[in-house]
Amino acid sequence: MSTPNEPSFRESVDIMFNRAVALMDLPPGLEEKIRVCNATYTVRFGVRLRGQIQTFTGYRSVHSEHMEPVKGGIRFALGVNQDEVEALAALMTYKCALVEAPFGGSKGGLHVDPREYDEHEMELITRRFAYELIKRDMINPAQNVPAPDMGTGEREMAWIADQYKRMNTTDINGVACVTGKPTNAGGIQGRTEATGRGVQYALREFFRDTEGVAKAGMSGTLDGKRIIVQGLGNVGYHAAQFLAEEDGCKIVGIIERDGALVDDRGLDVDAVRNWIGGHGGVSGYPDGTYVENGASVLEKDCDILVPAALEGVINLSNAERVIAPLIIEAANGPVTAGADSVLREKGTVIIPDMYANAGGVTVSYFEWVKNLSHIRFGRMQRRQEEARHQLVVDELERLSRHLGDSWSMTPDFKDKYLRGADELELVRSGLDDTMRAAYQSMASVWHDRGDVDDLRTAAYLVSIGKVADSYRAKGL
Ligand code: GLU
Repeated sequence: MSTPNEPSFRESVDIMFNRAVALMDLPPGLEEKIRVCNATYTVRFGVRLRGQIQTFTGYRSVHSEHMEPVKGGIRFALGVNQDEVEALAALMTYKCALVEAPFGGSKGGLHVDPREYDEHEMELITRRFAYELIKRDMINPAQNVPAPDMGTGEREMAWIADQYKRMNTTDINGVACVTGKPTNAGGIQGRTEATGRGVQYALREFFRDTEGVAKAGMSGTLDGKRIIVQGLGNVGYHAAQFLAEEDGCKIVGIIERDGALVDDRGLDVDAVRNWIGGHGGVSGYPDGTYVENGASVLEKDCDILVPAALEGVINLSNAERVIAPLIIEAANGPVTAGADSVLREKGTVIIPDMYANAGGVTVSYFEWVKNLSHIRFGRMQRRQEEARHQLVVDELERLSRHLGDSWSMTPDFKDKYLRGADELELVRSGLDDTMRAAYQSMASVWHDRGDVDDLRTAAYLVSIGKVADSYRAKGL
């Protein structure tokens, strides 16, 4: 897929980091301290499956412990290796710093194809992997808090949390050892949709930045924008669905493992997702046009390209032909360092992964806080807030009667105003605020510094600055 000169994912992250620190004034020792990955633990363990012992290899890498716990997902995939896990752990450090989630960066991975095993087998494998990490404090509410990533979800997180509780029966904060749990097992509303929702909020904020929009050679709002999304997994599905339903975007291409679907009139995201669920891929889908060479659709005309699958999909072999003026990296590392310079040269605007997909870890942060406080958000305030709003409404209505006026509130306004926020609304509000603030911090560097001409470098400058400050404050 990529050309021989292509740096590895890990090298790509280092190249991008180096480009940013070259513009900073950090002492060389500190620069090196921030760049390197602190530790990577490799575990090989056996599980008895189908009558024989199968050996699995897994990793948990800790990139930076300038804040603890460290945070980052656990990936189950055949592509997992030490280099990849370390690159992803580094991205977690920068991502958390950028969105002010008070964590260091970490990542885990297990070399396994989850589609090859049934639910019971996956439970045995996950619990055994978790056991190995828990007994070394590599899963722990105060030290290292995993979350879902590619190939894992609520189900795996619930097994991990349960495994931790079995091994730490008196830890009152045990449930905070992992985030992304189902809501009936200590999770939070809105975590599953969070990364896709964050992509939507990021794009909304981008389109409020007229200077940024102009730099992409675009105009207008999100309404009517034509989008191609690669990967209809958790992130790609939610992003595409929200953008189509709520922002008037048209999903004109969906790229999946077995090919792509294109339709200039816009594809029905839910229908495609259901089709994939039932048929294992997009081929045979009754609407739109099926394209066997899915990757070629990355090069098709559209306004916004949303790579939401694997790393390295836009690389030196295709970057020149990618013509979308705006790319938002919903996946981690979808654009290699080489492709990044080709695209920058062409004037393509890239909203970088460490910002674009930070919605997941942001809501993980809310879940962790909820777990540590042992109470759901809004439980104390909701009815009190409603009662105070009711007071205002009653008083206004009394006044209007008193004045003999025919004025009245629209029932819709009244309903909305009177209802106190539930957990999901609070989570979305916190996420929206986070995405707006992080965009502003990045965009001000992008627009104000003459030596920064892209959002990725701006994002690195902001986040490395924060990590450096925190090391300095610790006296390191
Ligand atoms: N795996 C997600 C990411 O790459 C979420 C991490 C988390 O919530 O800790 O950002």
